[in-house]
Formats: sequence, C-alpha cells, structure tokens
Amino acid sequence: MSDYDPSVPMLRQLLGLQILGKLEDAGFAEEPLTKKLDKPYMAERVYARVDGLPKGMKIQVYTTVIGDGDNVPVEVRSSGKDAIRVSAVYVTKDGKTRGLGKETRVNRTGNVEDICERMLIRMRKAWKTCKTATYCECGAPKFVTKNNKLACAEICWLTEEEKNKPYNNSKKRYNRYLRAPKFRG
Ligand SMILES: [Zn+2]
Repeated sequence: MSDYDPSVPMLRQLLGLQILGKLEDAGFAEEPLTKKLDKPYMAERVYARVDGLPKGMKIQVYTTVIGDGDNVPVEVRSSGKDAIRVSAVYVTKDGKTRGLGKETRVNRTGNVEDICERMLIRMRKAWKTCKTATYCECGAPKFVTKNNKLACAEICWLTEEEKNKPYNNSKKRYNRYLRAPKFRG
C-alpha cells in the first residue's frame, strides 16, 4: 500500500478510514464529545474499548481523524506533527480519567498499513497495561505518576474535601499526591 503523504488529501482520507476500520474491527467505539462544539466534525475522534477489561478501565485512542463525511471528509489531520495517541486509563468514581501507564504515540510516517499495524501494537500494549495493573488496598488500580512512582488511581489517601479543592489549588494538590505514596509505603 502507498506511503502516507500528508499533502495528498486522498491519502489523508485513506489513512483516516483505515484507522477507523481497524478500531472498529478491534471492538472499539467512538467516544461522545465531552463538550458542545460549533463544528463537531472538526474535532479529533476518540475511540475507546471497555469490553474485556477490568472494571473502570478503558483503552482510549486519540485518532487524529476528523470529519463526518458530510461537512468535511473523514481524514487524518494534515499536520505532520500530530500523532495517534494510545492510552490505558482508569475512570475514577468521580469521573476523572487517569492514565495507568505512559501514553504512547504513533507517528504517521511510512506505509499506511504499517501505521495501522503500529497503532494495533500500541493498543495491545495498553491492553496488557490494564491486565497487569497492580492494585491499591482500597481496590483501585495503581497508576504511574509523572515521577514514575505507582500511586492509587482513586488518590484514596486524600479526603473527599481535599480531592475537591478549587482548581487554583491544583498544583499544590498535585505535589501533595506525588509525595503521598512515600508515607503510605
Ligand atoms: Zn487506594
């Protein structure tokens, strides 16, 4: 199959349709938009799968695909810097999403078929991340923090009040929870 070239609309469309096809074959479904947009067809499509995964976990794929085939053709975004992102996430009881491992990226370079194959490899890796997660004593899985530490995805050492502090305290709060696992062992 052809090498992907972002300057060729037909190839952007071919890659976009191939990505969505592979995701649907793998049991992934499009995630609804989280907010209302004037041009929803210009938003990056996000696909996810929860079937077969431990409770609360899902694999998300940020496809770089836009379009609805009506207002705009279904195609990958033209920016070459964009990458497809795959992550294993846990959705907390209060609806926040936490990455369980490091998000992985698939650069859209080379053969169209190869790009899709690399995406599938990342998806399998994310699947493994979910399946091999370690768990906190509260029952929630642990995630890898920015400092490469494992911490409870429910941040269960904080009280509800501490978790719901206003946004302008988030930096302080973040530092707190990165430090916290030390005293919990
Ligand atoms: Zn916990």
